[in-house]
Amino acid sequence: MLSPVRTSLLENLVDRLAGLPSIGRKSAQRLAYHVLAAPVEEVESLSRALIEARRGVRPCTVCGNHAEGDRCAVCLNPRRDPAQVCVVERPSDVSAFEKLGVYRGLYHVLGGTLSPLDGIGPADLNLASLFVRCENGVDEVILALGTHADGEATSTYIVQRLRDKTARITRLARGLPAGSDLEFIDDLTMKRALDGRINLG
Ligand SMILES: [Zn+2]
Repeated sequence: MLSPVRTSLLENLVDRLAGLPSIGRKSAQRLAYHVLAAPVEEVESLSRALIEARRGVRPCTVCGNHAEGDRCAVCLNPRRDPAQVCVVERPSDVSAFEKLGVYRGLYHVLGGTLSPLDGIGPADLNLASLFVRCENGVDEVILALGTHADGEATSTYIVQRLRDKTARITRLARGLPAGSDLEFIDDLTMKRALDGRINLG
């Protein structure tokens, strides 16, 4: 009887790296060889950075964006306009908007979209705090969810829930590629979509 094959340290490293998003098997191998050839101190500081970021970054208590304390850098910035709230799926979408440098309002990060097929309902998303937030001091809610079916369904749900609470609900202009996530859309298209946003109610 054959004894079970033990995974080597190198194979284990490649497996871990290949489990990261956007990293195929080949890239994982390249990264693993890079790690093995790098000075030990460099690899230690990389692994420290991974652990420190994972432990030290938590959801902002106001908007759900990544934060190192109670509130994220956007919510803490007194120059941002709290009357405007842009609703996005993930913290990476906040980064995509911030990179444009044109939006001066705040955000609300849902943590995904409604997805009945995957069993994700309203209670699984950061929605309740959005509705509470919109009860006072918010003049405009900008829906900036992906143009895929779940993003559209989530936007519709939010519009229904907020219709009587918020002065103005808008969404990014049409023209964004259908079925896409915001993080894959180029800056100019994003800027145009934000500038040309459409009133929903
Ligand atoms: Zn925040």
